Amino acid sequence: NSIVSSAAKPLQDPDKLIDSVETFIFDCDGVIWKGDKLIDGVPETLDMLRSKGKRLVFVTNNSTKSRKQYGKKFETLGLNVNEEEIFASSFAAAAYLKSINFPKDKKVYVIGEDGILKELELAGFQYLGGPEDGGKKIELKPGFLMEHDKDVGAVVVGFDRYFNYYKVQYGTLCIRENPGCLFIATNRDAVTHLTDAQEWAGGGSMVGALLGSTQREPLVVGKPSTFMMDYLANKFSITKSQICMVGDRLDTDILFGQNGGCKTLLVLSGVTSLSMLQNPNNSIQPDFYTNKISDFLSLKAA
Ligand code: PLP
Ligand code: CA
Repeated sequence: NSIVSSAAKPLQDPDKLIDSVETFIFDCDGVIWKGDKLIDGVPETLDMLRSKGKRLVFVTNNSTKSRKQYGKKFETLGLNVNEEEIFASSFAAAAYLKSINFPKDKKVYVIGEDGILKELELAGFQYLGGPEDGGKKIELKPGFLMEHDKDVGAVVVGFDRYFNYYKVQYGTLCIRENPGCLFIATNRDAVTHLTDAQEWAGGGSMVGALLGSTQREPLVVGKPSTFMMDYLANKFSITKSQICMVGDRLDTDILFGQNGGCKTLLVLSGVTSLSMLQNPNNSIQPDFYTNKISDFLSLKAA
């Protein structure tokens, strides 16, 4: 790609940015909360944006919860967010299958946690797999063969703390033995921040296992792919240049906004530091950066 974005500018006039867009898409972890802790000043900032008539949308690559489960999390944190405003990559997987009219008599094999199962169920799809799958020991006796359901027409892979070899083999059989079987990834985050003590292997590690065994590229429905952005723009009839994507990660959030032709704001309240942003090896430059979203309230143009 020959387009080189110019260096990000510090956000100096939030009111100008706010006036120039009709929708804010907020990434969740690192922007709204960190793990289970609300980031300072978030409720007041969201209230202010709503009072100005802005549409607020929340997008997360974390597929372990459904939008309903996220709705509860927002509520627990004291945030007034409707589940219809939440777009997790678990929901995106089900929405994608709906968008292609995935047949209801076919099944989805899931490598992932509860969020994906809940969204598939709500969308009326048949599924198997999930976190509990494959606890059985595989006995490699002569002639041993693992059976798989021939009605599986899609394998969905997301972050799975119960990942195991059985699941890799099962998903691999579904994909390799049926060239028409879809391989869908909720996200490909290399690392994630389950605790603040270290980085943890992210959803991309589970996706990578299946990529290695099938030699097929997955279709990604989460950030930074364009599926979710197109879905949102279509659902709410928004012009993408009227959207500002706010996130803490360059390779998922900011790229997601840029791939969609939106304005982009990086916040430094999550995983990206100012030195990472300004590292000469980093080519992803948002339009603006600031410390946290509550700077919308405290920064005033000189
Ligand atoms: N995937 C997992 C498993 C996570 O735990 C997280 C963050 O906590 C993410 C992805 C990234 O989430 P987000 O897109 O909200 O930053
Ligand atoms: Ca994030």
